[in-house]
Amino acid sequence: MGGVTLRLDDLPLRDDLRGLVPYGAPQAPLPVALNVNENTHPVPEDVADDILDSIAQALREINRYPDREFTTLREGFADYLGHGITREQIWAANGSNEVLQHVLQAFGGPGRRAFGFSPTYSMYPLLTRATGAEYVSGTRESDYSLSIESAVRQVEEVDPDILFLCAPNNPTGTPLPLEVIEAVYAHSRGIVVVDEAYQEFAPRDEPSALTLLPGRGRLVVSRTMSKAFAFAGARVGYLAADPALIDALRLVRLPYHLSGLTQAAAVAALRHAPTMLGMVDEIVAQRDRISATLDALGYLPHETSTNFVLFSGVEDPAATWSALYERGVLIRDVGIPHSLRVTAGTEAESTAFLDALASV
Ligand SMILES: *Cc1c(COP(=O)(O)O)cnc(C)c1O
Repeated sequence: MGGVTLRLDDLPLRDDLRGLVPYGAPQAPLPVALNVNENTHPVPEDVADDILDSIAQALREINRYPDREFTTLREGFADYLGHGITREQIWAANGSNEVLQHVLQAFGGPGRRAFGFSPTYSMYPLLTRATGAEYVSGTRESDYSLSIESAVRQVEEVDPDILFLCAPNNPTGTPLPLEVIEAVYAHSRGIVVVDEAYQEFAPRDEPSALTLLPGRGRLVVSRTMSKAFAFAGARVGYLAADPALIDALRLVRLPYHLSGLTQAAAVAALRHAPTMLGMVDEIVAQRDRISATLDALGYLPHETSTNFVLFSGVEDPAATWSALYERGVLIRDVGIPHSLRVTAGTEAESTAFLDALASV
């Protein structure tokens, strides 16, 4: 390029992408990384061996395109989810981010509108705009919960083509009662996406929105293997919905979008679901310890049904974030005033975070 450095503004970029900022949680090689809600426990050795065997087998057929319909994987997800769900109701892609992108490509796009209640998952507006639709932010109560009255009123006002309900909500941790989902579904006409990325960390008796699927053709429940399943690096997300809605997603996916290696790894991991999920109780215990200790340190931890804690009462979040960074601990400044978010790690990582914070 003859030494000439172009800037983004110099390129004929799509007008509707100008000024947008890419997703960019810092990836710093710090000893204690508790910033993107990963499961920080590695995959157990014997499970890793079995997954490797499956990948090795898939590699021998890698000269051929993979099963476009990822049939075995969809059966695996249907079995895992239960609730009488069948493989015809399952879709999967490279992370639930791609699953959400498929929903937006099929039901959003130019001239359409997506809606979410702020603060919520930062990827909803990015994915919405990148696929050409408009994104509208609604509001929550001061404790980040959603009342039926307020949620229904806002949804009726905005009349979205796609509604995102993050349950429990990232970055706040807030649970979302099924009654709210039922009410907004009844008062909307668009696709209602319930993002249950953290459902496995909620109390066991907390019902999933999967129970609402029968008779609700516009309802989508998305899940991911990135959090509870300790599989973030494999990039596997999925959703359950009416078979007709799954057909709509086939229109927008790239052919063979899930590689044979990804399918083999995910199918093998699902065979070991109880072991893969074995650390969930331990993570929940660390999360509760973090909340209790933050409270004792004088911070204000918010109610959470996830693997992370949002805490307020931080005078200067940027300064506290940097002080922790200096001490080798990476957490997340999600842009909520006087607040920071920390992922529950192993016992040692959680202790390192709490000790570092106490010393700030
Ligand atoms: C982490 C997260 C996801 C998962 O994204 P993947 O692409 O599956 O890794 C989805 N939704 C929310 C709210 C999340 O926090």
